[in-house]
Amino acid sequence: MFQTTIQREVSTEGVGLHTGVFGHLGLVPAPADTGIVFRRTDLDNFPVEASGRNVARVSYATSLMKQGVLLSTTEHLLAAIYSSGVDNVFIDIDAIEVPILDGSAEPFLRLLDEAGIRRLRRRRRYLKITKSVEVVEADRHIGIYPADEFHVQCYVDFPHPLVGPQQIEMTVQPDSFRDLLARARTFCFERDIEPLRSMGLIRGGSLENAIVLTDDGVLNGPLRFPDEFGRHKALDLIGDLALIGLPVLGCVEAHKAGHALHTQLVSRVLSDSSSWTITTEDDRPVGALAVAEAPAAD
Ligand SMILES: [Zn+2]
Repeated sequence: MFQTTIQREVSTEGVGLHTGVFGHLGLVPAPADTGIVFRRTDLDNFPVEASGRNVARVSYATSLMKQGVLLSTTEHLLAAIYSSGVDNVFIDIDAIEVPILDGSAEPFLRLLDEAGIRRLRRRRRYLKITKSVEVVEADRHIGIYPADEFHVQCYVDFPHPLVGPQQIEMTVQPDSFRDLLARARTFCFERDIEPLRSMGLIRGGSLENAIVLTDDGVLNGPLRFPDEFGRHKALDLIGDLALIGLPVLGCVEAHKAGHALHTQLVSRVLSDSSSWTITTEDDRPVGALAVAEAPAAD
């Protein structure tokens, strides 16, 4: 397996969900071993690597910060890039926050489709989990375990008639991400809107970029999936795991987690080098895959 970048430069624009600041975003091809790197074009192209080492404030969205330069709400764009198997790309942005667009990762996938994927000559390096790493916080927990492919299991349970317990389990590949998660949108509870606004958040939020849940229903339906909330949480999880900085071979289990736990897991993995090895082998057992798929045929 070889590293990839995009074939050509592409761009989009829009407001940030939390700051309401309008920004322009461009994806630019990058050489092998660059990784995913944001560049603040309004600050002399100051680079902020999409790495767990640069995680800053994490509450309702994931923010990166390096030497005081902040970049917010990275998760939906990173989920699209990471799941599409793009290893190296510059993300040029002239604002503090990634545009929210429709609240899902689908517009970013369309952007990547427009950009095309180009194979580079350098071999892809994977971070292969060899030892379990877990983070527990009361009834919420997240862990990553050894596996031969990138697998996620995400459980949510919100006290709402339309949400309740929802679980997503999947092997993350470009097609599975596109089919199962990419279209799932951000959501919030109507009763939280004013408190969030008073905290200076969701200034760019609207009925066009977030599902708003009332006490017993949805203000701006229809939903794209009956379990759109669980799917969106899995999307967020993958976007935060992208901060590991390399494609991961491991199984992640998240139970009522959120950005804070996701990024704590990433930091813990990065700081414990006894929990992984770097390999250029995508040593997925081909025979096992064929066996696993067999029951679907009948
Ligand atoms: Zn999200």
